[in-house]
Amino acid sequence: MNASNATRQKLVIAVDGPSGSGKSSISREAARRLGFNFLDTGAMYRMITYYLSSNGIENESEIEKAISTKEIDFGVSINPDEVQFKLNGEDVSKIIRSELISKKVSYYASLRQVRNFLVGKQRKLINESSKSIVIEGRDIGSVVIPDADLKIYVTASEEIRALRRSKELNSSIDQVLIDQKIRDEKDSKREISPLIKPENSIELDTSSLTFEESVTSFIGLVQNV
Ligand code: C5P
Repeated sequence: MNASNATRQKLVIAVDGPSGSGKSSISREAARRLGFNFLDTGAMYRMITYYLSSNGIENESEIEKAISTKEIDFGVSINPDEVQFKLNGEDVSKIIRSELISKKVSYYASLRQVRNFLVGKQRKLINESSKSIVIEGRDIGSVVIPDADLKIYVTASEEIRALRRSKELNSSIDQVLIDQKIRDEKDSKREISPLIKPENSIELDTSSLTFEESVTSFIGLVQNV
C-alpha cells in the first residue's frame, strides 16, 4: 500500500465481471486474507428474485408496491467468514443458488425499481462498513461506487467459465454453456446498468490461473493502491 493510501481510513475495492469468472470466490478469499469486509451483490439480486418470484410478484407495479411497503427485510452479513443471507429472518443462503433462481434473476435485475432499491442498500452497507471493503457484482465500478479506490474487472474465457461452473453444479458443460450465454447476453445488453468493463478498471484474466494464483494477483493489486 503506498504512502497516501496507508493513511486513509478505509479502502473500497469494486469488483465486476461475468458469471463463472471466479470473481466471487476470489474476491471473498482475498477480502478474508486482507482482513476486509466483503459484499456479494449478486446474492442480493438472488434474494429479491427468490422473494418476489415465490410470492408470485412479477409485474412492475406489483414489484414497486412490494418494495415500497418495506416488507422485505434483508439480513446481509459483510463479514467474509460468516457468509449468510437472511430474508425476513429466513436463512436463504442455499436456496438462492438454485438453478431456478439463476434462470429468473436476470429478469428482476433488469428492472429499474429493483436496481434502485438494491443500489441504495449497497451504498448504505459500504458507508456503514467499519473497515475496508471489497464489493462485487456487475455494476459496482460503473454505478454503485464509481469513485472506488480500485476497480478490478475479473474475467475468463467463455469455455473456461462454463467448465468451472459445470464442475461446481455437477451438470453437463453443454447445458451450462447455453445458460451462461443467455445470462451473459441479458446482463450485458440490458438497458439499465449493463455489465461493462468500468472505466479505469484493471483486468484480471483468470483463464490460465489457478485459484491460488488469482487470489495472490488480486491481493497484489490491492497492495499497490
Ligand atoms: O453474481 P451472481 O451470478 O450471483 O449474480 C446473479 C445475477 O444478478 C446476475 O446474473 C445479474 O443478472 C444480477 N446482478 C446484477 N448486478 C449486480 C450483481 C448481480 O445485475 N451488481
